Amino acid sequence: MPEQRLTLPDRITELETPDPLKPDPDADMFAHRDLRSDAFWQHIPRFANTSESEFLDSKFQNKNSAKTAEQLERLVGELTGDAFMKDVKEGLRQAPMLLRLSPYLLSLIDWENPYDDPIRRQFIPVASKRLPDHPMLQLDSLHEQKDSPTSSLVHRYPDKVLFLALDVCPVYCRFCTRSYAIGGDTESVDKVSYKPKSSNWDEAFAYLLSRREVEDVVVSGGDAYFLPPNRLREIGEILLAIPHIRRIRFATKGPAVMPMRILTDDEWTGTLLDLAEQGRQFDKEVCLHTHFNHPAEITDITRRAMSRLFQGGLKVRNQSVLIRGVNDDADTMNLLTKRLSWVNLQPYYVYQHDMVKGVEDLRTTVGQTLEIERNVRGFTAGFNTPTFVNDVPGGGGKRDVHSFDYYDETTGISVYRSPSVDEDRVHLYFDPIPLLPDEGQARWADRREHSRMIDETLAAAGCEALELAN
Ligand code: SF4
Repeated sequence: MPEQRLTLPDRITELETPDPLKPDPDADMFAHRDLRSDAFWQHIPRFANTSESEFLDSKFQNKNSAKTAEQLERLVGELTGDAFMKDVKEGLRQAPMLLRLSPYLLSLIDWENPYDDPIRRQFIPVASKRLPDHPMLQLDSLHEQKDSPTSSLVHRYPDKVLFLALDVCPVYCRFCTRSYAIGGDTESVDKVSYKPKSSNWDEAFAYLLSRREVEDVVVSGGDAYFLPPNRLREIGEILLAIPHIRRIRFATKGPAVMPMRILTDDEWTGTLLDLAEQGRQFDKEVCLHTHFNHPAEITDITRRAMSRLFQGGLKVRNQSVLIRGVNDDADTMNLLTKRLSWVNLQPYYVYQHDMVKGVEDLRTTVGQTLEIERNVRGFTAGFNTPTFVNDVPGGGGKRDVHSFDYYDETTGISVYRSPSVDEDRVHLYFDPIPLLPDEGQARWADRREHSRMIDETLAAAGCEALELAN
């Protein structure tokens, strides 16, 4: 889809430029517009002769995705060397998530320095960088299973539900909050299953029809990208027909890992745009929520894909996770924010990294998140500035990261309350121990100190009388 330009009227171009009050911006100011448009996939030997039209075919992307360490080795082994691949194989043996990497993602990784590459860090585990889990970590840290009235729904907030429609994704993120369910069993985790069975869906539809307070449905999983067009239409049209449901969000990582599907799978994209159009006719919003974490994930292919959705009238919002070594500095986060906005993706949330098994090397502290937010806010327009949130452990839901009742930077414990979910409970988030000051690390090294630190923090927050969510 070529970029189209409007022509400026002569009366504007012929005007004298007013004296500038500000110095000319330096080149960095425009870095977000610099999108890769080269044949970047051709540096992977297997794709050296792959044409653009072949690379843009989502069937090619699915067929050539690496789903095992052996497939990854066949695709990039000669670029990385044996030691790295051995590290990956051992990392995968311990990881809670499977592997799935599209040729698009593989081609964006710097294989000369894979250890530091922000895309590699998110999707390919290496055993040598693994850190012990925090002692307070649980597998389902958000307690979604406790808030599930049916096998496919999470109903936590009063007027909103999460519809877990399927359990597969176009990529498996190392840091996935739903590592207890998504992507099939691994050597370290036997998963809960969210198969897209009609009986599961019918049970969910019946529940939603009976709950008149529900106005918002997030269709996730798993990932709506992998719903075939007929199932996408089925779920969209039934939800639109439920009178009290006003907003439907399809959540997908797809645009970040396989944006070409939007350009070349006309049946899927057409179904999505048709649902949005049907929604508009009934004053209901159908939109897409996606998940980019690093500016390098946004290329000119992404721009063209987002342009198709924008021109089709579909709103797309982005939710990022703050990840160590990926986007945990203000410059990267600002570049990501501006680049998202440039391609019509609205930066919506940045999440404090959930407490997830096996990825302690990826978490940051709440203190770091506050500092990054301070630098991001004011860098661009407010409606394109993401809100930094902490989806607090124990099922408290998303809280503005600043809204803790107390935060001890030495022990790394922050205290949050979530009165709209449960006013009698209190939620604790724990910073990663290796990033704490020496005193905090020493206290966590002594098991007898654990409950003492928690009691001290609750007392300092004035929350001793509340029940601890766990
Ligand atoms: S795409 Fe979303 S649901 Fe799927 S593995 Fe990644 S974070 Fe989890």
